[in-house]
Amino acid sequence: MGSEDTLRERIAAHGPISIADYMAVALGDSQYGYYMRKDPFGTQGDFITSPEISQIFGEMIGIWCAECWLQLGRPEMDVIELGPGRGTLMKDWLRATRHIPQFHDCITVHLVETSPALRAIQQETLASNPSRLYWHFSLPDTNRPLLVYSNEFFDALPIHQYITQNGAWHERLVDWHNGRFCFTIAEDAASLPAYPTMEDGVIVEQCPLAKEIMQELSGRVAAYDGAILSIDYGYTRPENGALPVGDTLQAVYKHTYHDVLSRPGEADITAHVDFSALAENAATAGARAAPVISQRDFLLRMGAEMRVQQLCRNLAPEQKQRIEDGFQRLVDPQGMGSLFKVLAVTSPQLAAPVFE
Ligand code: SAH
Repeated sequence: MGSEDTLRERIAAHGPISIADYMAVALGDSQYGYYMRKDPFGTQGDFITSPEISQIFGEMIGIWCAECWLQLGRPEMDVIELGPGRGTLMKDWLRATRHIPQFHDCITVHLVETSPALRAIQQETLASNPSRLYWHFSLPDTNRPLLVYSNEFFDALPIHQYITQNGAWHERLVDWHNGRFCFTIAEDAASLPAYPTMEDGVIVEQCPLAKEIMQELSGRVAAYDGAILSIDYGYTRPENGALPVGDTLQAVYKHTYHDVLSRPGEADITAHVDFSALAENAATAGARAAPVISQRDFLLRMGAEMRVQQLCRNLAPEQKQRIEDGFQRLVDPQGMGSLFKVLAVTSPQLAAPVFE
């Protein structure tokens, strides 16, 4: 048994399924989902993320959050990390902010993680941490000032795709045929009020779960004060208001691209994040979304270069090189530095540090 069998059984019983259902099972099936079974990160895994490349990443996010806390007048706050992976970002975040007077006494830290396998790794990574940490399978209830951050969380959430056929939108579905999964198109037309019909074959994507999470958190931030920092690979919509189109669904297995429909549960599946849609969701909920900036700009404006120099002082040349190379990779304008973007959402009175 595996995700493939679960998906085949579901299709046999109910007919073709949405891409969102396919992703939800492939990634999140409680027994066989990709994130449930293994540790996908690092050179031994399928892909590597920014906190695993350089400690400076988590440190800068920590300092940014502490700056928001200071600007808000040092309130008691909840801190939530969404999808903490191996717990490395949180570890660097906590270490970097440990000496800020009173900060740790004022915060209660929550980790939202659906995968028991990753949760066990997070607990190990954070075992020696003195702060009390709370794990949750879904968003915890909070009703006071709130800081939320995430890296590569929104890109892992299930998306729906729609395709134009004969002048109408139809949902794209996954079927099982001749011994393999394949894409098909729903017979009934779908209603996509924001989208005019386009020429046949055009694909658009929607991520209702990202919208729901962003609206919920932004509503809390607007009501109780706070900030949300989301880092992901994705795009912003052009100034002229053109709607984004195109298929961004991708699978990665052992650091190479992979067919999305083969080996569900064994490869990581993601879609690019529509940052303009997330910013709109935040604004709808009454919060303020700062203009989206690149990961490179965020790290440089936070003074990360000074931190690199500080870390490298007194180090042997090869250790120094490792730190410099890791940092360069995060800010590479040809790579992660521009591919990854940062969205800051704040309560109406708070100007997002380094964004505005
Ligand atoms: N932030 C980490 C990991 C990114 S991978 C890093 O940068 O290294 C995506 C993470 O989100 C994993 O920890 C995965 O288990 C978690 N995740 C995916 N879908 C989730 C959901 N619906 N709720 C909570 N966590 C989820």
